[in-house]
Amino acid sequence: MELTPRQIVQFLDRHVVGQEEAKKQIAVAVHTHYRKLGLARDQGLELVKSNVLLVGPTGTGKTLLCETLSKALGVPFVTANATSLAQSEYVNEEIEVILMRLIDKAGGELIRAQRGIVFIDEIDKLSDKLKAPPEAGGGARTSAGERVQHALLKIMEGAPVKLKSGGHFDTTETLFICGGAFVGIDEILSQTHTFGFIATGEDDNQKILDRLNARIKPTDLFRYGLIPEFAGRLPIVARVRPLTREMMVRIMTEPQNALYKQFRAIFAADGVELTIAPQVFEQIADLAMEYKAGARSLRGIFEEMLMPALYLVPDHPEVKQVVFTSLFDEPRYLGSQPG
Ligand code: ADP
Repeated sequence: MELTPRQIVQFLDRHVVGQEEAKKQIAVAVHTHYRKLGLARDQGLELVKSNVLLVGPTGTGKTLLCETLSKALGVPFVTANATSLAQSEYVNEEIEVILMRLIDKAGGELIRAQRGIVFIDEIDKLSDKLKAPPEAGGGARTSAGERVQHALLKIMEGAPVKLKSGGHFDTTETLFICGGAFVGIDEILSQTHTFGFIATGEDDNQKILDRLNARIKPTDLFRYGLIPEFAGRLPIVARVRPLTREMMVRIMTEPQNALYKQFRAIFAADGVELTIAPQVFEQIADLAMEYKAGARSLRGIFEEMLMPALYLVPDHPEVKQVVFTSLFDEPRYLGSQPG
């Protein structure tokens, strides 16, 4: 059954905290993508693919969004990394490996694999502006980043990829989502042309104009250092926002498989109730904010805090409750009998 964009967002909401704007954009893009495929099949309409670019800092849910999306749609999902593609001498072979992994995820079914989702992270690292021009060479040199962009462009446009095992992987129906932090893109945005001068002074119009101006456009990606053909292939840019402390707290407690829920289940398996006071989550969030790796640091801090309890509990069947009231204090262990 096909999900509507709103249903896709609802599914994403169960796993990903915040990022409302990006969720909506992705849901619409994906819905349109599969609609186009249907029309192409049924009516022979030519399909112009609209791939999606997710821009935002590390650890804020880009990969999680794509993976959850694939679950919502019931299609296979793989991730790839643009930096490692650029480091490889054999880009096309690396791309083939990615597609083979997709086939694997689809249980060997090529047709299912071809409708899957590929998330390619660190696309911003392909920018030629990032690399200092090499002292050597020069002339008509093509940077590694540029080579990778050309290779990706082909599969994103839907060119069939020949597989070593024989046969072809047709990427026409594959959804490619690119991701990157694009540090400094806002400066580029603020320099590019804004359309404020046609504003009529009415608030609503201004709001629409502000929204259009805040969009990252292919020309901005080009100025960032991506080649124009590749930038032009990413018309839909969704921005993923830095996580606030409050979002971090919610990430630990709210999603379907939030850390707190996972560990409560682990303790419950030993017949123990784990309780963590709200201020503890705030302390963990504060610490994670300092590491500047988004929600990525949460698990480490969380597990470190739980370590003593995870060690002690299995040997102490009399312990029925573990209570944390501070990240910096030992937990309290409560038994079945008072005292
Ligand atoms: P990136 O933006 O670098 O792709 P990930 O999606 O891989 O980040 O997130 C890193 C970790 O943090 C994952 O374990 C993920 O579950 C968690 N996480 C990050 N952002 C969110 C979010 N908005 N909601 C829920 N969990 C998140």
